Amino acid sequence: MNAETIDLAAAQAALAAHQEVFSIFSRLLIEHNHTVNLTRINTPEDIRLRHFLDSLAGLAVLDTLAADSQERLSLIDVGSGAGFPGLAIAIARPDWMVTSLEATEKKARFQRLICEELAIENVIVRCERAETAAHAPDLRERFDAATARAVAGLDVLAELTLAFVRPGGLGLFWKGPQVRDECAAAAAAFETMGAAPPSLFRYNLPEITATLYLAAGEKRSASPFNRPRRNFAAIKRHPLK
Ligand code: SAM
Repeated sequence: MNAETIDLAAAQAALAAHQEVFSIFSRLLIEHNHTVNLTRINTPEDIRLRHFLDSLAGLAVLDTLAADSQERLSLIDVGSGAGFPGLAIAIARPDWMVTSLEATEKKARFQRLICEELAIENVIVRCERAETAAHAPDLRERFDAATARAVAGLDVLAELTLAFVRPGGLGLFWKGPQVRDECAAAAAAFETMGAAPPSLFRYNLPEITATLYLAAGEKRSASPFNRPRRNFAAIKRHPLK
C-alpha cells in the first residue's frame, strides 16, 4: 500500500502563527503534569514537536476537506487526553468547531482549563465514552471529520469513531510504523461502518527518525444503528471482521 508524503508547511506555519498560545499551553501542561498524570512527553521541545507539530500534521488533510465544505468544518477528536490533536487543531483553525471527547474526568477538566486560560472559544469538551456518545442524536453522523491519536488499533478505532462522521466526511487517525498491518486487519471494520478502506499519508517530524502516518478513511454511507457496540470490552476483544 503506497503512502503519499505530506508537507508539514501548514503545520509549521500554524505553530509559528500561534507561538504564544502554544507556549502557554505547554507551560500549563508541564505544571499540571506534576499533579495529574496527563502525558509522558514533558519537556517544552518535545511537547512542541511530539504534541503540537504532530497534531497539526493533520492540517495537510483537513484543510483540503475544509476547502471542499460550504460551512465551517466540524470535527470530533475521540480520546483526546490532554487535548491532542483536537485542541491544537482548534487553536490553529479558530473558525472550525471542535468537539473534544475524553473519557477521563481529570483530563477533560485540564482541557477546559486550557480553553478558559487561552480563551479558546471553538471547542466543546465532553467527558464521555465514545461507544456511548456515538449513539447520542446530537453527535451521531454530525461531523465532517473524526480524529484520534494513540487511542487504539485501526480496527477498534473504526468502530469507535466512524459513526460520528457524516457520509462524505472523513475518519483521520495518527499512526506509527505498524500502520500497514493495522490497515489490513481493519478493512472489514471500515466497510461495516460505511467507510472506504483508509488511504495512507506519511510524514517525518524534525529530529525524530521514525516515519509517521495518517490513515484517512472516507465515510460513504450511514453506519449500522447497532454500531458501535456499547460494550468497549467486546469492541476490543472481538474487533469487527
Ligand atoms: N489522543 C491523546 C494523545 O494523543 O495525546 C491521548 C492519548 S491517550 C494514550 C488515550 C486516551 O483515550 C486516554 O485519555 C483515554 O482516557 C481515552 N480513551 C480511551 N478509550 C476511550 C473511549 N472509549 N472513549 C473516550 N475516550 C477514550
